[in-house]
Amino acid sequence: MKAQDIRPLGISQRHLHGPGPSDVYTSVLEVMKQPLVGHLDPEFSRVMEEVGVLLQFVFETENKLTIPISGTGSAGMEAAIFNLIEPGDSVLVCTNGYFGSRMAEVVRRCGGVLQEIKSPWGRIVDVSQVEEAMKNNPAKVVCIVHAETSTGVLQPLAEISQVVHEHGSLLLVDAVTSLGGMSVGVDEQMIDVCYSGTQKCLSCPPGLAPITFSPRAREVVQGRKVPVQSWYLDTNLLMQYWGQARVYHHTAPISMIFALHESLRTIAQEGLAACFLRHRQNHVALVAGLEAMGLELLVAPQYRAPSLTTVVVPDGVDEARVRGNLLQEHHIEIGGGMGDLKGRVWRIGLMGHSSRRHSLKRLLNGLEKALIQENLPVTEGHALEAMDEIYQARNDQELKTHEQFGE
Ligand SMILES: *Cc1c(COP(=O)(O)O)cnc(C)c1O
Repeated sequence: MKAQDIRPLGISQRHLHGPGPSDVYTSVLEVMKQPLVGHLDPEFSRVMEEVGVLLQFVFETENKLTIPISGTGSAGMEAAIFNLIEPGDSVLVCTNGYFGSRMAEVVRRCGGVLQEIKSPWGRIVDVSQVEEAMKNNPAKVVCIVHAETSTGVLQPLAEISQVVHEHGSLLLVDAVTSLGGMSVGVDEQMIDVCYSGTQKCLSCPPGLAPITFSPRAREVVQGRKVPVQSWYLDTNLLMQYWGQARVYHHTAPISMIFALHESLRTIAQEGLAACFLRHRQNHVALVAGLEAMGLELLVAPQYRAPSLTTVVVPDGVDEARVRGNLLQEHHIEIGGGMGDLKGRVWRIGLMGHSSRRHSLKRLLNGLEKALIQENLPVTEGHALEAMDEIYQARNDQELKTHEQFGE
């Protein structure tokens, strides 16, 4: 291949129903074409200010330190952990899936003394496990994943938050797959540090990691004995750029910040309650459709994240062939299992702009066809009927909300 012969890109349109990225809003792609300005330009300064307000809105917080980190969700994870943890600090990580384990790895790498609570993949971490661990060895920081994307478990936070704060510890939450798709409620849940990513329920391209620090967490960072292990992710330095001073730290990814501005603005226009309701109802309709095909879900009903559903692959079905078929025949992407669940589940995302009635219809229809090809006893049309019943059961007010947003 010669460099001079390489042609411009022509990427196919997909319907993204995997564990992320999700479909982006058209207006988000549009806004990325706006002219580039300097990262210290007064116009960009205004954009930054508005992004701050919008992020506080989706995080449901008054925290002043609420900014996008330049990097994907994992950069948010490192920023959260690196800023709070000094070498030798004790950290409790709750692990019930892949991303909990990643947090544990980051804690090890930044010199934290790691204590891990493990719960089986597909289950929540129980508050009693946290109580027990904190009684024996109270940690400075407790880390937990809100929506575990490897399993589809939505972790209840309220009771654990209470236990953590009774011990005077800080609560650090991964909200990568929940922010924008369900209430994270940073202030109400008393979360001290919370981070997310742009390509899941915020329906932006990947590249930024929104993060927020409570006043208490910020004091901890400001009072550190040794500087943050990462110069790039040091919020003390980042706040000199994002705060009033606007001092150069690194060049902000301008066009990505435009994209985030537009996606958050779109969510604000829809309204948080309506947006969360849309995610919840489309999830319920998805579940009804899957069950109509005779499929089983991994997670107990009360702990299912609306943004990500894990389906048990039936015996005798080639899970990779089904995914390949969906992509080739229907341009639909769904995810396979990872870690303990590799080859055993499909992961279906209904995140942000991908959580729409019409896209769900296309997804169920494609999945039905793919499963019939696998010789499963599935009747074409049953899943869509089950889905429609859920939508019909909605009351008028809810329907109005949905129609307004082009479902
Ligand atoms: C996707 C994801 C991450 C990592 O985000 P990247 O953008 O892939 O770096 C972290 N935590 C959870 C729960 C995720 O779903």
